[in-house]
Amino acid sequence: MKVLVINAGSSSLKYQLINMEDESVLAKGNAERIGINNSCLKHTATGIDSIELQAELRDHKDAIKLVIESLVHPEYGVIRDMSEIKAVGHRVVHGGEAFSQSVLIDNQVMQAIQKNIELAPLHNPANIMGIEACRSIMPDTPMTAVFDTAFHQTMPKKAFLYAVPYQAYEKHGVRRYGFHGTSHKYVALRAAQLLNKPIESLKIITCHLGNGSSITAVLNGKSVDTSMGFTPLEGLPMGTRSGNIDPAIISYMMEKEHLTSGEVNETLNKRSGVLGLSGISSDFRDLAKASEDGVERARIALDVFTYQVEKFIGSYAVAMGGVDCIVFTAGIGENTPAIRKASCSNLKFLGFKIDDEKNESIPTAKKEGIITTDDSSGVVMVIPTNEELMIARDTMEIIGLTNP
Ligand code: ADP
Repeated sequence: MKVLVINAGSSSLKYQLINMEDESVLAKGNAERIGINNSCLKHTATGIDSIELQAELRDHKDAIKLVIESLVHPEYGVIRDMSEIKAVGHRVVHGGEAFSQSVLIDNQVMQAIQKNIELAPLHNPANIMGIEACRSIMPDTPMTAVFDTAFHQTMPKKAFLYAVPYQAYEKHGVRRYGFHGTSHKYVALRAAQLLNKPIESLKIITCHLGNGSSITAVLNGKSVDTSMGFTPLEGLPMGTRSGNIDPAIISYMMEKEHLTSGEVNETLNKRSGVLGLSGISSDFRDLAKASEDGVERARIALDVFTYQVEKFIGSYAVAMGGVDCIVFTAGIGENTPAIRKASCSNLKFLGFKIDDEKNESIPTAKKEGIITTDDSSGVVMVIPTNEELMIARDTMEIIGLTNP
């Protein structure tokens, strides 16, 4: 059984074809610069060298056509014809309150995703374009929508409501939604599997630290709180996003710098975070290097970041009345031992003791492992996220194929 996973952005379209019999990736790639000049498709069939195809991709439909052509190509393809693709799973950023789990796409679902455009004006329109393109080219193939927000729909009101006039929630949907849900769900499930315990018995804190970062409290398998909010701007400081700030700073900055609301939004999303603090880069590799070279603001940016990671872990441990396991994932979480160590430096009183050697030497093949000492009562793990596989698994479940 082969499932195609699609993650459509405004000018890009990432895909993976997964063989669900052994959950292996048969091929993956990215169509880039859709609707712009010099568009191309980067395609990698497992075991074959990557190729780059130059083609005019006017829209997402052109992109999907080329993806399918590549998947069935006699030289670099991996299937004989399109009918081998039994289902398509689409990543959709915002499901709002309408979707607490993944769903089979029909016209009603499309309308609900459309309605959520006002909550995710940058993401949902692109996701819709990807779905519509696929539906027109593969009209008989069942498709599912897997939402970044769905996993967090189990949060209680006390965690998702902001203390602003209640009408803001009722009239405009102003509340915490949370994002990266597919990633948090995947690593929480994998952590329970590695601990050999039912997820229903565990208190897990999942730290998705990448360009965008968020932390989630997973109690008995359910998200009960998460650091991102109404938008992905809230929570931790990120590559270029501010994370939590005093909301009064916004009107103050607008007055002082004569900024419009759009400009201040742009500053908080694109020129803040560790980039804004350091003045050097949003990339943690650059910051680590600069900090080693003695650049004070790079060190401070990293300190601000890890301090906030630790504060969220502490607050979620309290919210759940304890924590059995902390998971690090995504670009920074998976690859940066120094950040993991600094983020856990004050957690000994909660029973977490990092083993420096294990932290530095996660087995490279799987990049997965426990980094706490044998006598540590709490477990810290590194687990590479795999949102595509989670989407494919949900898709299998929904379309009722037996999950091997
Ligand atoms: P995105 O949110 O765009 O998916 P990623 O999860 O890829 O982001 O994370 C990007 C961050 O991970 C960057 O700040 C980068 O510095 C950091 N990182 C650290 N080490 C590596 C590595 N070996 N490979 C990729 N990214 C790394």
